[in-house]
Amino acid sequence: MSDKYNVTIGGGDLMSYFSDGNNVCWFLEPELGAAIRRLHGLVGNAVTDDRYIVVGTGSSQLFQALLYAFTTPGGPEPVSVVSSAPYYSDYAEEVSFLRSELYKWEGDAYKFNKKGAYIEVVNSPNNPDGTLREAVVMNRTGNGNGKLIYDFAYYWPQFTAITGAADYDNMLFTLSKCTGHAGSRIGWALVKDKDIAKKMTEYITISSIGVSKESQFRAAKIIEVVCNGIQNVGSVKSENLFEYARNILSKRWQKLRETIQNSEHLILSKYPQEHCLFSGKLTETLSAYAWLESKDDTKDCNEFLRGLKIIGKSGKICGAHQKFARINLMCREEEFNQFIERLSATRGKGIING
Ligand code: PMP
Repeated sequence: MSDKYNVTIGGGDLMSYFSDGNNVCWFLEPELGAAIRRLHGLVGNAVTDDRYIVVGTGSSQLFQALLYAFTTPGGPEPVSVVSSAPYYSDYAEEVSFLRSELYKWEGDAYKFNKKGAYIEVVNSPNNPDGTLREAVVMNRTGNGNGKLIYDFAYYWPQFTAITGAADYDNMLFTLSKCTGHAGSRIGWALVKDKDIAKKMTEYITISSIGVSKESQFRAAKIIEVVCNGIQNVGSVKSENLFEYARNILSKRWQKLRETIQNSEHLILSKYPQEHCLFSGKLTETLSAYAWLESKDDTKDCNEFLRGLKIIGKSGKICGAHQKFARINLMCREEEFNQFIERLSATRGKGIING
């Protein structure tokens, strides 16, 4: 459908830093804000009423903007940041990178027992293991001084059942996983509190004086076409991107499960099925990643895969055991087929770790 998404940008277009001086997030292009609200309304995965939209250079920038918003002007001790393991390893890097005095990475939320302020990142469905998540620190320890960041990068119908419109105070979404346009670097935050939205805007103003308008313009167009496809506007047959993507992922998971089924070395966990309000069907989580586990607890799963010329991410950097490794399934078809081919080569060979 490439042609439908084309955008034309004239040489003199989009030159100013400013997009909408009346908006808290003054660099948000109004068309993108409207498209994001329309998309969430159609998919039903998040509440946008009474929410500020803050656009970011990917949700990565918005995550950091939220950390800043939650912790500035700073206290005597950096605020602890946690997420339940296995967690998205970039959280650890993004928090630790600049050795901030505002916040500090403390790892697995299941092991966090400190008193005082903390920030918990809840990623659902979770990267790397595809599980559905809820906040854990408050329930475990009774510590009510936490701020929560809900990273909903994968809360879209191709990956999981949409079980309701998420209604949290601070939610992150990204075009990277919604439509796959990771290179456009567009993410958005839905934020309830005006002061938090203002501080996030301040962070982005200082770090990059806004967000590329070309990217926003393109993202708005992409989202508009996706929405039209869902609503059957201007098309003869239904062009529902989420159904299309789910279909592809579903075939990949089926192939992967068939391949792993007889493996002497590897295990894949099962995911629950839930009723999806978007499709109206009973829907299984189809994670964007395969979270592979070595049957032998003493083996390093990522090293094993490397031996098969498969590049994954070790469970270790996600705060988990080395018997786990993550493989990205959101690749091109040829790449996926090669992955399956190389994985199939292990059958019956008894070669873990060489
Ligand atoms: N959160 C999660 C859980 C992710 O997996 C990713 C991308 N891998 C991001 C955030 C960052 O996405 P973006 O491209 O929007 O910066």
